[in-house]
Amino acid sequence: MKSKLEKLAIEQLFTNSTVDFFKKTEDTNSSRLSSFEDIMMYLLNNNISDLHFSSKKSCVTIYYRYNTELIKLSELEKDEYKKILTKIQIMSKIDIINNRDPADGSFTFLNNYFRVSLINNNYGTNCVIRKLKTINDLTIENLKYPEEFLKSIESIKLHKDGLIIFSGPTGSGKTTSLAFIILQLLKEKTKKIITIENPLEYIIPGAEQIEIKNDSQKTSILKNILRHDPDIIMTGEIRTDEFAKLTLESAMTGHYVFSTIHANNVFNAIQRLELLGLNKSYLLDTLKIIYNQRFVKILCSCNKKGCETCKYTGYSDIIPVFEILHINEYTKQMILSNKIDEIKNSIFYISPEIQLNRLLIQGKIDTEEYNQFITSIGG
Ligand SMILES: [Zn+2]
Repeated sequence: MKSKLEKLAIEQLFTNSTVDFFKKTEDTNSSRLSSFEDIMMYLLNNNISDLHFSSKKSCVTIYYRYNTELIKLSELEKDEYKKILTKIQIMSKIDIINNRDPADGSFTFLNNYFRVSLINNNYGTNCVIRKLKTINDLTIENLKYPEEFLKSIESIKLHKDGLIIFSGPTGSGKTTSLAFIILQLLKEKTKKIITIENPLEYIIPGAEQIEIKNDSQKTSILKNILRHDPDIIMTGEIRTDEFAKLTLESAMTGHYVFSTIHANNVFNAIQRLELLGLNKSYLLDTLKIIYNQRFVKILCSCNKKGCETCKYTGYSDIIPVFEILHINEYTKQMILSNKIDEIKNSIFYISPEIQLNRLLIQGKIDTEEYNQFITSIGG
């Protein structure tokens, strides 16, 4: 139960904010953002996914995520930030009195759902606000998926069980790809889909999404999920031997399992899973497709000189580039006998270079970005 005082505070917040929205909508692009409403409107109007409030010695700096970079938005006086933070804490139902550290919560603002995470540093509290995405964000136009990836989803639809692995570094769009695939699978047939997420990034109607805070809960949660007889399970990242083993077992016993792992490329992903104690032969019998994905930066029309459009970063967008390996009897035998070149020359392997060459010819990336990509996948 909420206390009377808290209720009153929340009511007051919302009455004030409603008035503010309409008054302030027009000047949200100004560099002086000093109220909660100004900042939130700026975030929504500029399609920003996350805001970072960083407490410094004498002020608080607001950053936002643009493509992969953090860009400084503005600065707040300590007093201004204190008011904003209190508002965020109340709206997110975060205990203000006890000031637990770290703390997290969520709130809605103009029908958008936001997650809040607070952590203290020497100079005060840092706050990250992240907008949860919805299925409306998951369009091919938004995500700019290449034809190679879209075509591979048709192969995914052909299978009913087994293991699909997405590999790549943190922030390479693996979760987004999985959310996109769930949507495609939900369009096909009514299936029971259960996901384990840490943290939740997309709200997908039709899927049962379980958000966990601690990765150590994962194995027991997956065991529980299996008792609910799902058709499709998204397990999130594989980090431990125990979880790798249970993930493979689930995929071997009639479930269609989707997982992610940190790896530089598709072959490295297999090695990583093997290092986590999985039997290579069982693994290859169960695997259907392995992906590796990461973003490339698309050149802005200002030709890296920096302009308002690209927020002076030189790049106007990021798009995902995929390496795709289909596992079947042929590729299994080639992997077991370590004939990687044979696989790379086969139709079962889709090199990221196909996509990179296309982008280079179109002038969307430069050779620097191209080479950086090749180095990052260990090519
Ligand atoms: Zn530019």
